[in-house]
Amino acid sequence: MTGTFLGMPTAPRGVGHLRGAEPFPAAARRALADSQLRRNLAKATSTIRAKRAAVVAELPDWEDLRAAGQAIRTHAMTHLDHYLVQLEEQVTSRGGVVHWARDAAEANRLITGLVRQAGAAEVVKVKSIVTDEIGLNDALAAAGITAHETDLAELIVQLGHDRPSHILVPAIHRNRAEIREIFLREMAGVDPGLTDSPAALTAAARGYLRRRFLSARVGISGANFAVAETGTLCVVESEGNGRMCLTLPETLITVMGIEKVIPSWRDLEVFLQLLPRSSTGERMNPYTSMWTGITPGDGPQHVHLVLLDNGRTAALADETGRQALHCIRCSACLNVCPVYERVGGHAYGSVYPGPIGAILSPQLTGVEDNASLPYASSLCGACYQVCPVKIDIPSVLVHLRARHVEQAAAARRMPAPEAVTMAAAAWVMASPRRWAATQRASRVGRLAGRGDRIRWLPPPLSGWTAARDAPAPPAQTFRQWWKARNGGTA
Ligand code: SF4
Repeated sequence: MTGTFLGMPTAPRGVGHLRGAEPFPAAARRALADSQLRRNLAKATSTIRAKRAAVVAELPDWEDLRAAGQAIRTHAMTHLDHYLVQLEEQVTSRGGVVHWARDAAEANRLITGLVRQAGAAEVVKVKSIVTDEIGLNDALAAAGITAHETDLAELIVQLGHDRPSHILVPAIHRNRAEIREIFLREMAGVDPGLTDSPAALTAAARGYLRRRFLSARVGISGANFAVAETGTLCVVESEGNGRMCLTLPETLITVMGIEKVIPSWRDLEVFLQLLPRSSTGERMNPYTSMWTGITPGDGPQHVHLVLLDNGRTAALADETGRQALHCIRCSACLNVCPVYERVGGHAYGSVYPGPIGAILSPQLTGVEDNASLPYASSLCGACYQVCPVKIDIPSVLVHLRARHVEQAAAARRMPAPEAVTMAAAAWVMASPRRWAATQRASRVGRLAGRGDRIRWLPPPLSGWTAARDAPAPPAQTFRQWWKARNGGTA
């Protein structure tokens, strides 16, 4: 063990890549102006939504499965200390080596050291969002080690010098013509007559990747689940590239957030039904790879597991917010979110975009570092309805907004504007005379309106009218209307 964090109430953070570069409102405004992006997103998300809805409707016990998934994740997070230690014991007893990393810097140091120890200058990676979270590729590059992404969408992102914009389909913002251009520009040895048919693009990627699989000595993976009772790690994927990464290299390094642990194989049965239907809209994903330590003479003979905290124990300390750690990264909440569908993943400035990113990233970095994300929602509740483990995302969003308001007020050493407004409203509403006077005074607002809409208000109310109209107060208050209707008795 190179470090320890069990028992600590909070952990050092250090997730540079998670810290929002630009507040969401500014990034979203730019994204909204990109009509090609909006077309690509609308097409992709509506297709996945329809597939998911169809396969979910096939299961009469879907709601029971969701409830089971929620119960297992809640139990695992409540007893995380126990299950992590059990996982470590099981992996170690089967020949693997377990490392504990408190933050991104520690994880990157560890992994870079392991790759060097294996004498490798190149690694192949199966899609792993947690390695994006810690900025592993940059850390490896700084150490002179080249990382090759092998998931097709991740490869497109890497060759395009781009950033992922979706948990499951990182290149969702690209269409076929754009992918063809990237391949022609960046892929050494590609056929100059390459077309943009899916079969041709896939064949080009296959040829490119095959050479890397056969020469790589180190593979790096994430893990969808880790079964504590046996020390088994599990990766689910669609392309088979992951299985090449997991079986061909001599050394396999798996990087996993500590929340991915589940108690038993029986629990895996629940998630292997929930995950593919919620993510790709399939009954079963094509490849489910599981490995338990080392098997002599078969597959990697040096197996490492890096257990990453990076803000997770801090999230666990928040009774409402900890639900975010239940996430199984299916991305169903992204595909139904009206905000995500219009602005895409880059606007969130975080490797975890969409509704789950809006509740997870601020907790991993500290709310102050991603303060705009909990507001990136209309609170319509669609994410809660589709979440396979029933994370109440709208409630966590509201909770994080409250945390942000309180922290900002504490930093200013003044009551929050919201608290002052509510106190004033309570004072006005406590007296019928004050309420009637305020209603009469509010009709002055008609002067700012044109017709029945107000399109501009002075600060601080300008924040509202910058993005939307406000209704103009009616010509008559309710009391005046009632009085006139009932012959003078209010
Ligand atoms: S929050 Fe729920 S719906 Fe969203 S990615 Fe996680 S498990 Fe899927």
